Order: sequence, then structure tokens, then C-alpha cells
Amino acid sequence: MKYSSTRGGERGLSFRDAVMGGLARDGGLLLPESFPDVSDQLRDWQDLPFNDLAVEVMRPYVDFPDEVLRDLVSRSYRSFRDEAVTPLVKVGDRYVLELFHGPTLAFKDVALQFLGNVFEHFLAESDREMNIVAATSGDTGSAAIQGVRGKSGIRIFVMHPKGRTSPLQERQMTTVLDENVFNLAVEGTFDDCQAMVKALFNDLEFRDRAALGAVNSINWARVLAQVTYYAYAALRLTRDTGATAVQFAVPTGNFGDIFAGYVARGMGFPIERLVLATNENDILTRFFNTGLYTATEVVPTISPSMDIQVASNFERYLYDLTGRDGQAVSELMAAFARTKTMDLSQRLDAIQGGVIQAASGNREQTLATIKACYDQHGYLLDPHTAVGYFVADRYLSDETPMVCLATAHPAKFPHAIQEALGRNEAHHPILAALADLPTRCETLAPDAATLKSYVGEKAGCA
Ligand SMILES: *Cc1c(COP(=O)(O)O)cnc(C)c1O
Repeated sequence: MKYSSTRGGERGLSFRDAVMGGLARDGGLLLPESFPDVSDQLRDWQDLPFNDLAVEVMRPYVDFPDEVLRDLVSRSYRSFRDEAVTPLVKVGDRYVLELFHGPTLAFKDVALQFLGNVFEHFLAESDREMNIVAATSGDTGSAAIQGVRGKSGIRIFVMHPKGRTSPLQERQMTTVLDENVFNLAVEGTFDDCQAMVKALFNDLEFRDRAALGAVNSINWARVLAQVTYYAYAALRLTRDTGATAVQFAVPTGNFGDIFAGYVARGMGFPIERLVLATNENDILTRFFNTGLYTATEVVPTISPSMDIQVASNFERYLYDLTGRDGQAVSELMAAFARTKTMDLSQRLDAIQGGVIQAASGNREQTLATIKACYDQHGYLLDPHTAVGYFVADRYLSDETPMVCLATAHPAKFPHAIQEALGRNEAHHPILAALADLPTRCETLAPDAATLKSYVGEKAGCA
């Protein structure tokens, strides 16, 4: 498989180039030149355990020998505490796909355990080093750190918006004391952190000198690793219920997770609809309902990992929407950079007629959903999952089973649970153990130059 940029400036890249480079050199995102159609194989795959199916899903996109791919997959998912890796649980009139059994109790482990192993594999092959620079609104940081901690040849610099991630999420990052891990608290928003990462990557000279690597969901290997659980859930449920297709409700921030569902459907997995769910930061919902993509201020919510306005993976969808027209995407992105708005209302029919339907859930609706689900079914939703669960209500159907993606364990967000139930019922021993551990973190001003000199110094290439 070859990879090309959403802005048309690069094509013919290998999987290795796409993964190690992260972002295309023209500022675009990398995508495979096609999504192979696997519909003919689905019948043979429906009984496969998670790891075996993951290998089938990933095979067309990677250039590893089969035994290497198998080894990377099995080492990545060994760290999950459930035999099914991502188990499906029936909750009332729908299914919950639990994606939080990895080391940091969030779905991002599915992608980042894999990515860490892929990096290690490529670096060992070439005897090189790499410096990962990442922005996190909460869960990405700890999952990325767990993916690469202690790995030789890799340093990781993780920026989080100071005071804006949950205290527990912060401790999940700052209690990791491995020498190759640098935690940075930035005095700004998540969008500031993300802009700093992009600026560093667009400094091509520094990018090469420091061998920068990306773990944000702009990295194609992350999206790819997430296609696996859409495939798994769609095959299991169509097999077990006799339905011809399923639908997913996806709590969304950077559009990475739902884009993986879009790819799964593009490959022919039986997916009828993807319900995009946002919190009060609803730029994507407004886009899918009006065709206008207009950034406003980020507001802090009880589902902080979705507190994003500029969704980095949206450009991948745009590329598909414009019929893979890199020139059109470049122009749209340039206009958006200037005016904070992008007008695609003339394509509204195509947007609304597609597989993605979008709606929002606010704070009250999220809290009420957590309470109702717990009271009625004894099942505790984390606030991100609850946004999707709430929005899913209006799309429930007898013919098409609804799968709500559970993106985090509720114990990661005790304040929301406390507020929803009047008491905290969410506990997890891994999180309880963090309270007594020492931490390490430095504060950083929100500008790219400061970040550049920090990374340059630690990486010995200033
Ligand atoms: C990151 C995250 C999301 C949003 O995922 P995107 O890929 O950014 O859309 C939702 N829920 C949780 C718990 C997350 O950590």
C-alpha cells in the first residue's frame, strides 16, 4: 500500500514513511491510496478472535512480513485485561463496546500500544532514534507514554493544558518517571498545545534534525489500529443477531476514532451508520448539520477529552468528500486558517446523505444519562461514553443494533460520577494506586519556539 497527502504534495510513501513521519511534508495528513474491499472475506472472518482479525484488517496497509505483524499485534494486546480485548456488553436496548481494558483505561491504548511497538520495530531495524512530541487533552498523553515508556531510542515529550486535564489523568502521566518521558504543562488550551506540535512539525529543518515522530491521531497507524474494533464488533453482532449491519455511536473530539469507523465501512464491514456525538464543543455537529465548519472558543466540559474545536483528522474526511482533490483540500484548509471558517454548504446533500449523522449532548443530558443507565441497568458510563449513549437514543432501531463505544473507564472521571449519582461508585485499583506515587512535570509557555528549544536541548540537537 502506498500513502499520499491530503494536500496533494506527496504521494507514493511507504507505510514506514507514513508512520515514522506522522504528518505529510506539505502540512497535510497521510492516507492510503485506497481502502481495500474485503467484503468477500467477511464470512470467513466472523469467528476470528480479536488479534487474528486485527491482523487481517491491517495486512493490506502494512509492509511487514506476516509473522512480524502477528507478533506486533499480540504483544500490543497482551497488556489488555480482558480476553476479548474489546468486549461487547449488552446494556438494555443496545450494546456497549468496552475499549478501556488497556493500561491507562482509555480506548487510546488500542492504538498506542500498537504504535509504540511499531516505532520500536522500525527504529531497531535502522538503528536510529526518535523524539515524539505530542499534545494531549487528557487520555492521549498517558496512553502514548505507556506505549513507549522505557523503549530504547525513543524520547517522548507530552504537553497538556495546565490545570485542564482531570487530576487523575494528570497523575497517570506525571507519575511515569522513566528517563525517556518528559511531561510538560502548557499555560494555555489544548488547541494551543496542538498548534505548537503542528508548528514544530512544519519546521522541516528541525523536524529532520530531531527525528520528530507523532503519536497524535494524525498518525495513520493509530487510525488503522482502531479500525480493528469496528470490524470486530460489526462481525460479531451481525453473526449473533442475524442483522445485516450495525451502527456505532462515537463520542468525538479529534475525529480520529470515528474516522476509523469510516475506514472500516469503506472496506466493506457491515456498518450502516456512524453517529457522531459531541459535547458543548460542537463544531463537528454543526458541520454535519449545516455544511459550515466554524471554530469558536473551546469550553471546558465534564468530558474533557472531547474539548476540541479544530479536529485534526477532519482533513482526512474532507479529502474523501472532495473526491480526493488535494488542491481543493489545500485551499479549504488555507481559508480556514485565515478565517476560522470553511463553507461546504453547497455539498450539504452529500454530507448529510453519507454514513455520518451528528448530534450533541450537553452537561445536564450527560449527567442524566449516567444516572439513568446506572439506575436502570446497573452499568456505569464514563462521561464521554455517556455523550454517545445519549445521542444514540434517537437512532435506535429494531433492525440495526446500536453499539455505543465506551472510550474510558468511569473511574477516570470520579467528579462527573459523583455529580451524576450523588456519590462516587467508580473505582479502579490501578488509579487508586497512583495517589501515593511521586510525580515529575515542568511548566512551559504556550509558544512553539520555547518548545523547540526545550526538545532540542533534551534531545541533544539544539
Ligand atoms: C480521545 C477521546 C475521545 C475522542 O476521540 P477522538 O479520536 O479524538 O475523536 C473520546 N473519549 C475519550 C475517553 C477519549 O480519550
